[in-house]
Amino acid sequence: MAPRMSCSVVSILVLLAIHQPFTVHSRSLKSIDPSLTSFQSLEGTVKGQTRQGIREVKRYLKAFGYLDYGEGENDDVTLMDNKFDETLESALKSYQEFYHLKVTGKLDVNTLKQMSAPRCGVPDLVHPRHAERNATKHSKLRVVAHFNFFPNMPTWSKFRLNYAFGPIIGEVSPGEVREVCRRAFQSWSSVSQFTFGEVPLEDSPDIVTGFYRRDHSDGSPFDGAYNILAHAFTPTDGRFHFDADEHWTTSLTSTQIDLESVALHEIGHVLGLAHSNDEKAVMYAVTLAGSVKRDLQQDDINGIRVLYPSQ
Ligand SMILES: [Zn+2]
Ligand SMILES: [Zn+2]
Repeated sequence: MAPRMSCSVVSILVLLAIHQPFTVHSRSLKSIDPSLTSFQSLEGTVKGQTRQGIREVKRYLKAFGYLDYGEGENDDVTLMDNKFDETLESALKSYQEFYHLKVTGKLDVNTLKQMSAPRCGVPDLVHPRHAERNATKHSKLRVVAHFNFFPNMPTWSKFRLNYAFGPIIGEVSPGEVREVCRRAFQSWSSVSQFTFGEVPLEDSPDIVTGFYRRDHSDGSPFDGAYNILAHAFTPTDGRFHFDADEHWTTSLTSTQIDLESVALHEIGHVLGLAHSNDEKAVMYAVTLAGSVKRDLQQDDINGIRVLYPSQ
């Protein structure tokens, strides 16, 4: 359903349409090798070199929407090699651009550090083939907005949504998980027209969440502790999943991953928001251990209000 828009909103959306050459977000994610966390050995690698571990960098950039060798039958074979080729350089530049890193096209220390950070499994919406063309436009658009929507801007056609819990396993008790999610839903409710209520799983809920390990039959396997923390599907699918192997916490003083911060982020996806490249935003893909983002930021609020303008 196409939302109604005011003139100013339309102008923002036109800019966003230029800004965002959509890729398909629901692609199957390949498992990311845990060796990603020790990427440091690749520091300084540049185009033309062949190094052990480059293959994992390629898989990472492909999984998150930056690298595309095309749909040819050699796609996977090409991805298996350890050569730093031109396509990888282009994908790296695109990644560096999105994360406000220095755009070097090299595996420099800051880029490797960023790639090792725990993050959401939903791809960022940057298409490498368009990255250079859009590079100059990006700098102007940042002034307008950092938030993004999914391809074709899928939305809910109702504002009362019921949610239920699937399996709750791992280090946080079911009671705490329910309370954390209740607060996260309430945060979105307080800045939008949505209201949320918990129902039993058998009552056909609009939204279902839970904790899952590794391959859990939705095409996007989790990867064990670290790297991918959680993921969600676009409207009106309603699923958002936490990786049960993470060391989740509900404590503000813990050095582990804050469950409420990630729940707030994933609910944003469930409502139709993609990743923002404002690092202060809840919809920023990375959640560092020990950091807490339990309050929606202006960029998040702008995003949900543009996607669902008030009647
Ligand atoms: Zn995300
Ligand atoms: Zn899942």
